[in-house]
Amino acid sequence: MRFRSLGDLKKPGVLEVSLTALPEEVLITPFAFSKAFAINEAVQRLFQGSFEWYGFTLARRSEPELVVDVGLPQNDENFAEFTRVGAERIAAFLETLPPELVVNGWVHSHGDLNFQEFSGTDAANQATVLDYVTTLVRRPLAKREVLIRDLALLAKSDFTMEELAVGSVTLITDAPVSEARIRETVLGGFCYALVVGDGGWHRQEIHYKTRGLLTGVTEVSHREAELRVVAAPDIPTLELAVLQEEVRQKINPLRYKPEKLERV
Ligand SMILES: [Zn+2]
Repeated sequence: MRFRSLGDLKKPGVLEVSLTALPEEVLITPFAFSKAFAINEAVQRLFQGSFEWYGFTLARRSEPELVVDVGLPQNDENFAEFTRVGAERIAAFLETLPPELVVNGWVHSHGDLNFQEFSGTDAANQATVLDYVTTLVRRPLAKREVLIRDLALLAKSDFTMEELAVGSVTLITDAPVSEARIRETVLGGFCYALVVGDGGWHRQEIHYKTRGLLTGVTEVSHREAELRVVAAPDIPTLELAVLQEEVRQKINPLRYKPEKLERV
């Protein structure tokens, strides 16, 4: 037996070739990290109590994995143990964002609650954020082989309607070919999720969503992630008075108990 090249000895087909990777840890500048806790402190100072709030983590479009700021949308419901993210608020916030910035996740506070993890309510909020954000930061991740049973190959100037009717998928080429492999681009995006609390604790998750461009196969997953504070140039200083005024305008403490108490 004779092989034409070493390539013939390889097992058939690598099914997926990676192009780029999605982040596995949350990267954040000292400015953005301290701003999240400064918002907590401003809430306590202004409203004499701890209330949950949420904001968006922001990155430069050129470096979407690094959180450089925390943006506060208008919050509608800030309870001591609950906050809700509204889809229409995400859209409104995106319209106000300068073109060089992109939303790459969301951050919310559990205030002074002793609940230092993500909750079922958080998962519902996460679902609202996920579709918006992963689309904003998505990129080609891989080329994945598409397995087509009964692929039909035709040359463009030379087939009949009967031949076109054969097969599950027809690939029409400019010259006759006897074999073809099809690889689709897999696009993928991520969304950071941070939860913080009074006293400085924080937890993070990264949510992923991928989609095959040809097959439309969509996969969603998430993982717990470490947070890494990374120094970056051109970082502004935190203007506490300005931030406090923004908190006063955008966070809306509600002191009655929601009818169906959902936490946290
Ligand atoms: Zn929560």
